[in-house]
Amino acid sequence: MSFKVYIGGQLFDKADAKISVYDHGLLYGDGVFEGIRSYNGRVFRLKEHVDRLFDSARAIHLEIPLTRDETAKAVVSTLAANELTDAYIRLIVTRGAGTLGLDPRRTSNPQVIIITDHISLYPEEMYEKGLRIVTAGTARNHPAALNPRIKSLNYLNNILAKIEGANAGCVEALMLNHKGEVAECTGDNIFIVRRGELHTPSIDSGILEGITRDAVIDLARKEGIRVIERSMDRHDVYTAEECFLTGTAAEVIPVVECDGRPIGGGSPGPITKTLRKRFHALVTGES
Ligand code: PMP
Repeated sequence: MSFKVYIGGQLFDKADAKISVYDHGLLYGDGVFEGIRSYNGRVFRLKEHVDRLFDSARAIHLEIPLTRDETAKAVVSTLAANELTDAYIRLIVTRGAGTLGLDPRRTSNPQVIIITDHISLYPEEMYEKGLRIVTAGTARNHPAALNPRIKSLNYLNNILAKIEGANAGCVEALMLNHKGEVAECTGDNIFIVRRGELHTPSIDSGILEGITRDAVIDLARKEGIRVIERSMDRHDVYTAEECFLTGTAAEVIPVVECDGRPIGGGSPGPITKTLRKRFHALVTGES
């Protein structure tokens, strides 16, 4: 099935969905994006995703040629045009085509692109049995260089870590920040359970403020589980009772091994399983 792609207010067949090779999104990774999901015909936390997109754009001095409301409506109408109810949505804003040279002032027409499709990031078995991860040697971008809070089109930092993970036979890799503290994985936030409480790196650890992360923090608090956002090191991961990752595509996925050390009993723990269940109920509107 080939879905129609939204570009600048029009829908194109996938094969005809094209933008200029002079677009600075391609030339320099100059642009921002969101990965969003819909379940049962309802887009999960659309407002939060649109807000984060606009924050990312503001941070890189990019003016999105739509209002927040128009952006949200474009997402919903693209899904409807493709008759999709359970979908992965990629919302992209590029800097637009310009001259060869970095200067964003010499570009015009930022492109708003919406791709709607299906996604299956990890095999179902990994949700049941848990993932193995390794620590990447590639540090997460220094926030003073390129703040990880900006969801930019330049994902090479994460891709380099992902390659390290893949070379070690893992589908995800743990990234440390410039201080050697635990930051996040290449496309997911990380949580651990310690003494029955949930710990996750704080935003100032240099991470993307994940929308799934926020949802899981709320769900945990509703379950009466204390949540602590702080700086963490690998010792916290190695000695954790449980560990899991969160992300729009990954949802909530258990981690059972890090750098060859089994976490807890080496299988998904009870808090992870409960939060997975609660998250599923939340996104599908069953809670
Ligand atoms: N960290 C990074 C680096 C990401 O790219 C993502 C999104 N794939 C996340 C965390 C998770 O964020 P969200 O829950 O908003 O998808």
